[in-house]
Amino acid sequence: MQKGKINVQTENIFPIIKKFLYSDHEIFLRELISNAVDATQKLKTLANTGNFKEELGDLTIQVILDKKKRTITIQDRGIGMTAEELDKYINQIAFSSAEEFVKKFKTKSEAEQHALIGHFGLGFYSSFMVSDKVEVISKTYKKGGATKAVKWECDGSPDYTMDETIKNDRGTEVILYISEEEKDFAEEFKIRELLKKYCRFLPVPIQFGTKKESVKVEGEVDKDGKDKYVEVEKPDIINNTNPLWKGKPAELKDEDYNNFYRELYPYNFEEPLFHIHLNVDYPFNLTGILYFPKVKRNLEVQRDKIQLYSNQVFVTDSVEGIVPDFLTLLHGVLDSPDIPLNVSRSYLQSDRRVKQISNHIMKKVADKLEEIFKDNREEFEKKWDDIKVFIEYGMISEEKFYERAEKFCLLKNVDKKYFTLDDYKEKIKPLQTDKDKKLVYLYTNNKTDQHSYIESAIERGYDVLEMDGVLDNHFINSFEQKTEKISFARVDSDIVDNLIKKDDTKTPSKLDDKQKEEIKPVFEKVVDKERFSVSLENLSETDLPVIITQNEFMRRMKDMSAIGGGGGGMMGMGNFPDHYTMIVNTNHNLVSKIIGEENAETREKLAKQLTDLALLSQSLLKGEDLTKFIKRSIEIL
Ligand code: ADP
Repeated sequence: MQKGKINVQTENIFPIIKKFLYSDHEIFLRELISNAVDATQKLKTLANTGNFKEELGDLTIQVILDKKKRTITIQDRGIGMTAEELDKYINQIAFSSAEEFVKKFKTKSEAEQHALIGHFGLGFYSSFMVSDKVEVISKTYKKGGATKAVKWECDGSPDYTMDETIKNDRGTEVILYISEEEKDFAEEFKIRELLKKYCRFLPVPIQFGTKKESVKVEGEVDKDGKDKYVEVEKPDIINNTNPLWKGKPAELKDEDYNNFYRELYPYNFEEPLFHIHLNVDYPFNLTGILYFPKVKRNLEVQRDKIQLYSNQVFVTDSVEGIVPDFLTLLHGVLDSPDIPLNVSRSYLQSDRRVKQISNHIMKKVADKLEEIFKDNREEFEKKWDDIKVFIEYGMISEEKFYERAEKFCLLKNVDKKYFTLDDYKEKIKPLQTDKDKKLVYLYTNNKTDQHSYIESAIERGYDVLEMDGVLDNHFINSFEQKTEKISFARVDSDIVDNLIKKDDTKTPSKLDDKQKEEIKPVFEKVVDKERFSVSLENLSETDLPVIITQNEFMRRMKDMSAIGGGGGGMMGMGNFPDHYTMIVNTNHNLVSKIIGEENAETREKLAKQLTDLALLSQSLLKGEDLTKFIKRSIEIL
């Protein structure tokens, strides 16, 4: 028997492995199974190249739980190790890299530690996070001198023993004696959960015990004359060794992709809108399938996330920093051995390869959207409401995506007609310009509340866009910045004739200047001066007598400061009360009637009634004011 110290020079890392690396203890299983998969794949490669001529046989990796002994065994039939190899790989190389890992780990912040261990395991030595003792029994595939098996044992101190042993089959068995504190890992459901999480798509079958399955007995019937079934024990294979993203897109159907989506997210009952199959091998290696899900209106934290794999081993489902932010709204899988995982997020964001990968993904996403747009505009329009938030997010946050998406980004008007940005510009050009000759895009963010304003704009022959999406405010801002000659105005931000320049001269006023001077204070008296400024306009007789508007610029500033933007001078604007303009239509008969009214009290009452009606149409009349309005209306009637 050989006894030894793993490394005499440096400090004992075992207590550190146990104590400090508490955050992701569960990854031990992923690490050990990955090793078993590697050893199996290596043997397959040897067989394929003619360097291993025996039967490969069943290569299934076994995970075995012994609850009584509190052990977990991971058993493979891969290349195995000779005593010399075990000494070299486990005692020396693996230990040094574990040691290096621990050193690096200790200098990191807690958040980074978490990312580090999640993404980049300790390798074999992670088994000591959960075990009091670990045994490795291995037999090499090689014939000749070193055919005896070797047994290595270590109890979590730097001392180990190595001895010859008997093992019939080639391959490696790692036996973990789970510690008292970590005994939860020695539970069947826990192991199954971890296998499902990390091993779901590993390329070698992983078996965990057996399961009962009903099998039809051919040619026999039960006593009721129905098909006869018997229960049989079958190996419980945990993984799908041939996940769809490894397949050839040309050979796959939509249905296959939808089925795979369900396999990935079994608790999501929504069908994806469409998918993108990625398959790149130069200048980096990347495969995967991305799905466009139905994004929820409030962009709620998505439960189903993109999963990142490295050679089919699950790594993480937080891909922030690896793909552009807006793409994290997508679902699906990315598999790349080329994404460096053993680094911090800030490093990831500046890594050239990560940039290339993320640009590639972005390009593919844009290609796909453009393809659907070009090939099937109708289909694209049908999906628009669902994908809009995603496209707007991309356009706002990624210049490159904006340039691509300009071609297929759509605007929808209140009649539910869709236009590309260019088409819309052409359509409204002759109609909607302001005094600076800028194009004015009228929009509503609430068709119900702004109904009367929309009507009045449409009556005048203008078009009104529906911009009620979660990101529309941001989109409008960035769109205006990019296209100097276009500005957006909400339908209720002023009367339409002020927003849009008309060539014909304004309607003449029915009231003379003296009467105007007389009418203004009447209305000023009945509204809250802090919140409303009264202005007189010669609108048409058929327009409403009193209209409330809210200045576009002021409203946007207020909105921005409410969400923490706006900067310097605008800070704190969120606390100001909303300010509105109360426009009195000097051409309306009712306004003339007020002028003609002798009795001051009646005058005031009429003015009050008209302003209340305007408030009511904006849902601004509430509480006591509303009660008074109702009483007054009844009196008048
Ligand atoms: P890594 O897998 O990153 O190389 P590990 O610490 O997990 O590091 O493993 C160290 C080495 O031990 C492996 O590279 C491999 O040579 C050897 N090894 C570990 N597990 C097995 C196994 N099941 N079969 C054969 N060799 C193994």
